[in-house]
Amino acid sequence: MDFAYQAEDEAFGVELQAWLDTNLPDFNNQGEIGADHSDETRRTMARRQAWQQRLHAGGWAAINWPRSWGGREATTMQNVVYSEVMARAKTPGIYNANGIWQIGPMIMRWASPAQQQQWLPGIIDATDHWCQGFSEPEAGSDLANLRTLAIADGPDYVINGTKVWTSTAHLARWGLFLVRTDPTAIARGAKHEGITAIIVDMHTPGVQCRPIREITGEAMFCEVSFTAARVPVANRLGEEGDGWNVAMGTLTHERAGTGGIAIGLRAELDEMIAAAREHNPDALLAPDLRDRIARLYAQVELTRLLNARALSKVLKGERSFPEAQIAKLQWSHLSQALAELNIDLLGPLGILAKGGPEAINGGHAAHNYPWQRFTSIGAGTTEVQKNIIADRALKLPRP
Ligand SMILES: Cc1cc2nc3c(=O)[nH]c(=O)nc-3n(C[C@H](O)[C@H](O)[C@H](O)COP(=O)(O)OP(=O)(O)OC[C@H]3O[C@@H](n4cnc5c(N)ncnc54)[C@H](O)[C@@H]3O)c2cc1C
Repeated sequence: MDFAYQAEDEAFGVELQAWLDTNLPDFNNQGEIGADHSDETRRTMARRQAWQQRLHAGGWAAINWPRSWGGREATTMQNVVYSEVMARAKTPGIYNANGIWQIGPMIMRWASPAQQQQWLPGIIDATDHWCQGFSEPEAGSDLANLRTLAIADGPDYVINGTKVWTSTAHLARWGLFLVRTDPTAIARGAKHEGITAIIVDMHTPGVQCRPIREITGEAMFCEVSFTAARVPVANRLGEEGDGWNVAMGTLTHERAGTGGIAIGLRAELDEMIAAAREHNPDALLAPDLRDRIARLYAQVELTRLLNARALSKVLKGERSFPEAQIAKLQWSHLSQALAELNIDLLGPLGILAKGGPEAINGGHAAHNYPWQRFTSIGAGTTEVQKNIIADRALKLPRP
């Protein structure tokens, strides 16, 4: 395989890098954004909103969107270059990651021109924050078991039920939700039928968001309850009962640009070694820690090559299976292993949290250790990924 980029892809990266060279230092130097918010999640989101607005002004917020909506119609290779350049520059997160990568493309695919005009501009220019409400207490890995009920009543659906783990729902103005419009489907053994996708104004009476406190101390997720909430039928995406198709499009609208993951993991490893060298240098002499560093270094490199192989398949018009699933496992395993190594390399200093006078790098290690547990749950749990590989790649017999 040829690892070199074509001239036009190089040029795309150079243009992005030049834009970042001007805009990122300027953004980072403008003082603390969101300092007026009392909680960490709101401060983070204020910063993400400001960064996405800046990206949008430069035409770099939604590279895959059509030019008519402010995008760049980027190719697969440009996605890879984008992901790598952004990872190397360590850019802030964006306000509407879900909205730009998943919900926006679904609105383009399924919504009427009037609906597109209503919602797309606010997603890309970061005016409105969006959430995605799929999971329920009885429907996570088994998403089709969802039971939040929506019954048509004149111009509205009347919605009752509970969603859970809806990220940043309490900060969102809009949400893409999956609801059950045919209450008989589960009993009929046809749970994938009778599901409908609908866009909900989060300020609708009867919609209530209850933030859930996480092990990190922050509250990013919500339980969202619907109590006779009336949502216009006009907010439906696709036809009634078509929600499973809409959702699968949303979940599988895959970012081709996973090349940045290995760059981010490598940067994390380099930074923890640098921090250990400065604050706890004896740790770098311990044989078991040296062994873990070397193994993780090799695994990160392996992940980079795995992503390259997946990309090569995509460019040839093939599916990136099972590389995409294996890369997901690698990402969650390495994120957690690196977080554990960081604590061990810093010794007692590693557990000092943000705010303390002696916390290293803003208490990053202490925060990152519990936070990275999410990587083996979100975007498909480890067990479910392994089941897919066992069933479809290895073709193992079912127990
Ligand atoms: C950071 C983060 C952000 C999220 N944001 C959102 C969001 O914005 N919107 C949203 O709708 N949801 C969101 N989720 C929820 C996420 O989609 C679910 O947590 C995920 O689908 C798993 O579902 P569950 O939590 O109900 O676990 P369950 O599906 O109940 O699984 C529990 C355990 O059982 C295992 N298991 C389940 N089925 C099988 C099987 N068939 N074989 C073997 N083992 C199995 C799982 O691997 C897991 O270990 C988020 C989750 C995380 C971690």
